[in-house]
Amino acid sequence: MTEQTIFLNAKLADGSLVDLTVTDGRFRVITPAGKAPSVDLASIDLAIVDLGGQLVVPAFVEGHIHLDTSFYGDAWRPHIPCSNGFDVRERVAFQARNLAAAAPMDERAKNQLELCIGNGSLAMRSHVMVDGSVGLKHLETILAVRKQYRDLIDIQLVAFPQSGILSSPGTPDLLDEALKLGCDLIGGLDPASFDRDVKGHLDVVFGLAQKHGAGVDIHLHDGGTLGLFQVEEIAARTKALGMQGHVAVSHAYGLGDIPADALLKAGEMLAAAGVAIMTNAPGNHAFPPVAALRQAGVTVFSGSDNIRDSWWPYGDGDMLSRANMIGYRSGFYEDHELAAAFDVVTHAGAKALGLESYGIAVGASADFVTLQAQHVPEAVVAVPKGRTVYRRGRAVAKDSKMLVR
Ligand SMILES: [Zn+2]
Repeated sequence: MTEQTIFLNAKLADGSLVDLTVTDGRFRVITPAGKAPSVDLASIDLAIVDLGGQLVVPAFVEGHIHLDTSFYGDAWRPHIPCSNGFDVRERVAFQARNLAAAAPMDERAKNQLELCIGNGSLAMRSHVMVDGSVGLKHLETILAVRKQYRDLIDIQLVAFPQSGILSSPGTPDLLDEALKLGCDLIGGLDPASFDRDVKGHLDVVFGLAQKHGAGVDIHLHDGGTLGLFQVEEIAARTKALGMQGHVAVSHAYGLGDIPADALLKAGEMLAAAGVAIMTNAPGNHAFPPVAALRQAGVTVFSGSDNIRDSWWPYGDGDMLSRANMIGYRSGFYEDHELAAAFDVVTHAGAKALGLESYGIAVGASADFVTLQAQHVPEAVVAVPKGRTVYRRGRAVAKDSKMLVR
C-alpha cells in the first residue's frame, strides 16, 4: 500500500504557507495551505501532521567531518598544544596516542552520526584515515557503520591520507584499495608542505580519481601564495581532466590571506574549473572569504570538521550553528547575507556533494527539518534547538534526540 503523509501549514523560506504531500518518501504535491488534494483512503496509508506554521527547510549538509577520529561521547581528552607552533606531524602523533586509548571506533562514529542527525544533517561527507600507519582498519569500521545507518543518512567517504601520500610508504596502494572497497572520493593533504612534492602528490590523487571515476576532496592548510599555487594546480588538473563539479578543496586557508585582486582572479578560476571550497569558518585563522567567492560563482560549502578530537575540542555537529559561525566571522548582518550563510550549509552543500533530488521541491527526497523561527535569517541568528528532523517523510529525531535507530 502506498504510504502518504500530508504535512499541513509548513512555512517555506520564501514566506509562503503550504501543505506538503509526501508519498513513498518524496515530495509529490506542494500546494498553498488548505489546498492539498483529496486522497482515496482505500488505497493509501495516510497520515496527517499539522506543522502549525513552523519553518520547513531542507535537511542540512554536513560537508566535512571525521567519523573515525572524534572522541565525542567518550572520555574528555584535554587538548595538547604542539611543542613549537602548529605542526601537522606532531598532531598526528598525538592523535595516534589518543586513539589507542579511546572507546571502540564504531561506537564513537555512531555517537557523532546521531549528534549530526539529531541536529538535522541527513547528508554527509566524511574523511577517513587511510595511510601507512593505520592501513584500511579505520575504513573497514566506518564502511560498516555507514551501512548500518544508510536508511537514516547518506554518507560519502573520502580516502584521506592523514600521514601524506609520498611520505607514508604504501599509501598509494592503500588509497587504490580504499576506492575499490567503497570510498566515493580520494583525499589529499598539503601536497607542498607535507609531501613537499605538489606534482607527485597530485599525480597520485588525480590518477586514482580517474582510474576509479571518483571525486577529489583535498585538505589544504597551506597559506598565502604557497596555498594559492596549489589551488591553481588543482583547478588546472580538474579542468584538463573534465572533472568540473567533482573536486573540492577543504580549508584553502590561503584564499583568506591574499590581496583582493588575487582573490578575484582565484575565484574566477575556481568557478570556471568547477572546484568547490569547503570552510568551517575556523577560529582565530584566516579563511576563504565566503561572500567574494560566492559572488565569483564558486560553490562554497561547510562542515563541522573535527569534533572533540586530537586537533581541537570544539564542534557540535550542528550545521545551523555552523551557518551562524560563518555569518558571524564574515560580518554578515543583512538578511540576504544571513540567507547566504544558510545556503552554504544547505543548497550549496548539496551542489558540492552532487546530491540529486535535494530541497523542498516536487520530486525531491522528503528530507527536511522543522525550525521554530519566522524565517531563515532569524534561524541563522537564533539557532533554535527545538527541531524535528524528517528522513524521507518520517520523523527520525526531535529536539536533538533520535526517535529511531
Ligand atoms: Zn578535516
